Amino acid sequence: MQALTDNFGRRITYLRLSLTDHCNLRCRYCMPEEAHGSGRVGRLTEEETVRLIGLFARMGVDKVRLTGGEPLLRRDLVTLAGAIAALPGVRDLSLSTNALLLEKNAAALAAAGVRRLNISLDSLHAERFADITGGGDLTAVLRGIEAARAAGMTPIKLNMVALNGINDDEITTMAEFAQARGLELRYIETMPVGGQGEWSMRHHLPAEQIMARLQRHFGSDLLPQHEGAGGPARMYRVGARGPRIGVISAVSRHFCASCNRVRLTAEGDLVLCLGNEHSVSLREPLRAGMDDAALCGLIRAAILRKPERHDFNAPQAAPLRPMYALGG
Ligand code: SAM
Ligand code: SF4
Repeated sequence: MQALTDNFGRRITYLRLSLTDHCNLRCRYCMPEEAHGSGRVGRLTEEETVRLIGLFARMGVDKVRLTGGEPLLRRDLVTLAGAIAALPGVRDLSLSTNALLLEKNAAALAAAGVRRLNISLDSLHAERFADITGGGDLTAVLRGIEAARAAGMTPIKLNMVALNGINDDEITTMAEFAQARGLELRYIETMPVGGQGEWSMRHHLPAEQIMARLQRHFGSDLLPQHEGAGGPARMYRVGARGPRIGVISAVSRHFCASCNRVRLTAEGDLVLCLGNEHSVSLREPLRAGMDDAALCGLIRAAILRKPERHDFNAPQAAPLRPMYALGG
């Protein structure tokens, strides 16, 4: 079947699938303090989800990331992951998680076909971790990481949102933590979506400053890598055999020209760009009985609406969706 290509010649091969907008943490850059969540009523069922991902896979999407919200809150996660991994065309299934519930699920997820894992970890100090995440238990996350390693998942990437005046003194210790365990590490610049008021932008640490600190600490051991070219991360290796580390800057550095991804929310909205409210609901036509060919046509037409680039500073017709709702 013909590949999915947008109006700017970009081939869409990567889908981020949000399985829920609920979370068991309240990271301050991501979630409002008060409870929220759209409930299960509007959420795509397991069967609807697998059918839609199958259509994307037929049109050339070969990489799927399960995310949220916190995907481990879905009781059907393991069967859903297994069904998606088994779809013809899907060659790479990964999961983003805060790892709070990972310890008891890692082996089953690995067996279901989830090989690659991204784990959020912003601090190695228990109290600070709890403060950033709204009460998270660091020891549970560390046990989750060990369970994933024991299950043979690889690569395991840690995502650290670097926050000025909050955890920036841990930028290099996190690299050493990752190095000691054979993990990869990404430092993430905060984006102006979601979160508690102005908190995340108040503590915004530009990627240039993250890199300057790494360069000061590791000196000539910090070797630029070219494998990451095209994606949102600038990649380095610490020493010839050390861990790969990357700095992700969605705001201060555009990576839109090579963007190959779209997002599907738990309610079935196909979201074409992080920084623009361009979305198309797939749930209603699906539930109205639309057949596969017509759904593929709808998806193709939606992809043509993918904007050339994000602009977080431009006035938006509607507020941007936070990462927990979008599938970060
Ligand atoms: N709950 C899972 C987790 O935390 O890994 C998956 C969903 S979470 C929304 C995915 C990623 O989005 C996390 O690595 C988180 O750090 C990042 N994120 C959330 N809000 C952000 C923001 N305002 N700026 C930058 N990154 C953000
Ligand atoms: Fe939950 Fe992940 Fe957002 Fe933290 S970053 S509140 S773990 S969805």
